[in-house]
Amino acid sequence: MALKSASKLSDRQEGDSHALTVDEARRRILDDTPVLATTVATAVRDALGAVLGEDVLSPIDVPAHTNSAVDGYALRAEDLAAPGPTTLQVSGTAYAGRPFKGKVSAGQCVRIMTGAPMPNGADTVVMQEHTQASGTSVTVDTVVRPGQNVRQAGEDLAKGGTALRTGTRIGPAQLGLLASLGRAEVRVLRPLRVAIFSTGDELRPVGEPLQDGQIYDSNRYTLYAMLRRLGVELIDLGVVEDTPEALREAFTHSATVADVIISTGGVSVGEADFVKQVLHELGEVGFWTIAMKPGRPLAYGRVNACPFFGLPGNPVAVMVTFYQLVRPALLRMQGETPSYPLPPLHLPCQSAIRKKPGRTEFLRGVLCDGPDGEPAVRLSGPQGSGILRSMAEADCFIVLAPERGDVASGETVDVQPFAGLI
Ligand code: AMP
Ligand code: MG
Repeated sequence: MALKSASKLSDRQEGDSHALTVDEARRRILDDTPVLATTVATAVRDALGAVLGEDVLSPIDVPAHTNSAVDGYALRAEDLAAPGPTTLQVSGTAYAGRPFKGKVSAGQCVRIMTGAPMPNGADTVVMQEHTQASGTSVTVDTVVRPGQNVRQAGEDLAKGGTALRTGTRIGPAQLGLLASLGRAEVRVLRPLRVAIFSTGDELRPVGEPLQDGQIYDSNRYTLYAMLRRLGVELIDLGVVEDTPEALREAFTHSATVADVIISTGGVSVGEADFVKQVLHELGEVGFWTIAMKPGRPLAYGRVNACPFFGLPGNPVAVMVTFYQLVRPALLRMQGETPSYPLPPLHLPCQSAIRKKPGRTEFLRGVLCDGPDGEPAVRLSGPQGSGILRSMAEADCFIVLAPERGDVASGETVDVQPFAGLI
């Protein structure tokens, strides 16, 4: 099946001139990733952030009763047909949850609260602000449209109508809508299981002192955080030693317990030897060169049937490739139609940027005010692909298309805000 599309890509493409574009890499990955189809029943609050696994039909009309949209007086529009003020007898009050039981006849009205069911006979509500009450009568001096300020039963949703479709990500509005239908439980796609590990003999776990030449393994923390935000179930295998035996064990174990495997490090040209050797035995994985910066080397394919992403080791390259290439695939596997890429903002850039044409660059940016107070963007700091600090200070990516060269200060650039992405 989808293994074929990975094998087409299994030759490393050297040099940017033969590299895949970001869009092409994303498309190939999306074409290859399967949709996870297992659904589970869950309490409605626990469904927040999950993807709906059923079409939700409305068991009731919403609203259930024709009711008033405002506080005021329920009356018959025809009683106000004559020009000038009209005085009506108030025959009772209708509250939300406590309807008026009688009928509104000619010359009568009922005081009504927002959400209260419309009394029989009345078809229109006049807002309290347009009336003057005196004893048991009220004078109305306004023009009304029949049906004004009345919410019809079923106008949001008719009984039996589709309220939410399979594949919808459940956010606050969707959760409220489910509750408005009386749903205590709902079927959602079960969380994706994602196995992660780092490779690199220089890596030390946090909490231990560093020896000469060692660095802390920060990638598993970034990955943990990015994946937690997507609501996946994490299987963290730690740092895997750079030997064929250890890698073989990590990959075969991951492929049996996880839906997706993500590793970092060990996919660049000089380094891929053991990873490559082991993956050749176990699956079909393409070692790609992508015309992007950061994030040029990336491995993608299957280990047994399990999709595998081999991300580069550099900490910012991990984040950029995750957001641009892995995240859309994980959303798809979780059953959501990825709304990706989001349309960029176009903002003047206050920083001058040097750029070689031929690749997409993702720079770390900060949204700011321009000289006249209009929205603008600037670089957040030095852009080396290992520099996490400027990523931590950024709130957006500045995205420069392949054909673009140097950017002079003040030129417009595409901006992808982190809000909604991370
Ligand atoms: P690699 O892709 O393995 O050649 O790694 C590229 C750079 O990223 C090297 O400087 C590595 O030390 C660094 N690196 C690799 N893995 C990690 C990690 N898990 N955490 C932090 N830095 C890493
Ligand atoms: Mg390495």
